[in-house]
Amino acid sequence: MSKRPAAPALSRVIIVPGRIVPDTPLSPISDDKPKPAPISGTVGMFRIFGVPVRLHFTFILLLIFLVFIGVGGQQSGATTALYVLALFGSVLLHEIGHTLVARHYGIQTIEIVMFPIGGVSRPERVPKAREEFWIAISGPLVNALIAAALFAWVLARHQFVPIHLLRDPTDANLAERIGAGNFLLFIFNLLPAYPMDGGRVLRSLLALFKPEEDATRIAAGAGQVLAAMVGLFGLLSSNFMLVFIAMFIYIGASQEGAAVRGRLLTAGVPVRAAMITDFRTLSHGQSIRDAGNLLLATSQHDFPVMHGDSVLGLLTRAALVRAMLAEGPDAYVASAMDRNPRRFSPDAPLSDVLPDLSGPHACALVMDGERLVGLLTAENVSAFILLRQVSQQQARIHAH
Ligand code: ZN
Repeated sequence: MSKRPAAPALSRVIIVPGRIVPDTPLSPISDDKPKPAPISGTVGMFRIFGVPVRLHFTFILLLIFLVFIGVGGQQSGATTALYVLALFGSVLLHEIGHTLVARHYGIQTIEIVMFPIGGVSRPERVPKAREEFWIAISGPLVNALIAAALFAWVLARHQFVPIHLLRDPTDANLAERIGAGNFLLFIFNLLPAYPMDGGRVLRSLLALFKPEEDATRIAAGAGQVLAAMVGLFGLLSSNFMLVFIAMFIYIGASQEGAAVRGRLLTAGVPVRAAMITDFRTLSHGQSIRDAGNLLLATSQHDFPVMHGDSVLGLLTRAALVRAMLAEGPDAYVASAMDRNPRRFSPDAPLSDVLPDLSGPHACALVMDGERLVGLLTAENVSAFILLRQVSQQQARIHAH
């Protein structure tokens, strides 16, 4: 289950020993825009310019690795820490560059996630081609500026050493190494392949004279080719860091490709066409035990919690398990449910809501005004996309 922010309304319950009783009357779910689920597998969080920054656990592994290979050289422990921190700061400034340029175009950033091959900032909407060009190029430009400033400083102090000597980290060449790191970040991110910024620049340029879907397919394809080349080179030279990076590029490129295929196959289709209409609900007075029994008796994972005809929230399987552990089977479902689940209109374009259903177990309510008409789950949508793909292939076979 993807992690959701804890429902703030949980503070509105009265705790009675051994039992949790929701206060009454319960209000129907609020009209606040539900927040998109954060990327899973992240640890820690802080805010910069109001944007949440999360660290992916693999990024922490990379930091440990960098400190590990840095220790034992000719540099002091403090310099190693400074070097790693400076690179972390450089990647972060790169993402801040994206964030601020996106904000200039009125696009807010949902979150910044730090992955080993760089950060990822998630814009709240897909930018237009022109906007995407400037948003994508701003990150690498930040690294180019940092590199230029540091090299200029090192040159002015006559401390410049040939690049090949930078392999021996010392305290004296710290600034030059940070500059070189930023130069590498600049070059690496501008590779014209998804998911690198260069891939986005390429896509935005291709989109000037090609349909958006074709432009994305080419950029994603370039990413997979690049990943294969980097991976092969890494294997042949026994550089496992490169193999690791190639894996990330490949996964990123495939995800972008899949996202585009999903958008293509759902183009012009309303949410109504893919939603689940045959589903079970819980009443707010029912217990976690009742919910558990329903979970076993049906194939459903998430249950809308109702008060008469109005929806109060959504009880996910993860929340059910959590409540079972923390409060026991006699707790009310209303105390464990998500009070602000994602909601879509049945007439909303399916392709628009796809990004909000990215988690493997994501579930949203389909609401016609205040009336619950269906459920939309990631599983169901992928089944829908699969069926569309198969029927299109069939149509192609029969056309020949
Ligand atoms: Zn970037």
